[in-house]
Amino acid sequence: MFEKTGVATREMVMEKFPSVERINRGPVAVVECWQKIPCNPCQTACPAGAIRIGEDINEIPRRDEERCTGCGVCVAKCPGLSIMIVDGSKSADTVEFRIPYEFLPLPAAGETVVGLDRAGQPVCRALVRRVMNPPAFDRTPVVTLEVDRKYLYDFRNFRREAEAHG
Ligand code: SF4
Ligand code: SF4
Repeated sequence: MFEKTGVATREMVMEKFPSVERINRGPVAVVECWQKIPCNPCQTACPAGAIRIGEDINEIPRRDEERCTGCGVCVAKCPGLSIMIVDGSKSADTVEFRIPYEFLPLPAAGETVVGLDRAGQPVCRALVRRVMNPPAFDRTPVVTLEVDRKYLYDFRNFRREAEAHG
């Protein structure tokens, strides 16, 4: 299915996710890199040595959920926009996501947006908590959103409310 649609299956997604216990302890990276490509900025950027590709740069990166501090440095560094941070430590009902977002205009903190799944379909509402776009991110802004916990494995992106009708 993935080969035909380019959309990861639930099983593929689950394999990349940290354990729920780890997510509930605090922020941690989800690295959804699926294909063997010569790329390694995630490994190079990680200050904790939590992402390993190994000697062959074509290998798929593996994230160590115990080493990962959830610092988020890798999110803006990935040219494939393949990395996000999940944090389930703040609420029993919601999860915070930090995702790369390269569309303009950027949303504002406090804005409610439409949460999208990996196929780009609307699945939920999401509340924008923070928007970061410092020069060090090199034009890959990172948006923090609060999402109902039941969409933990579904939410992957968002669009602004106005765009839903446009
Ligand atoms: S969030 Fe920070 S510690 Fe975790 S993999 Fe990314 S760069 Fe490394
Ligand atoms: S930087 Fe992104 S695309 Fe490149 S290997 Fe790492 S996760 Fe994959």
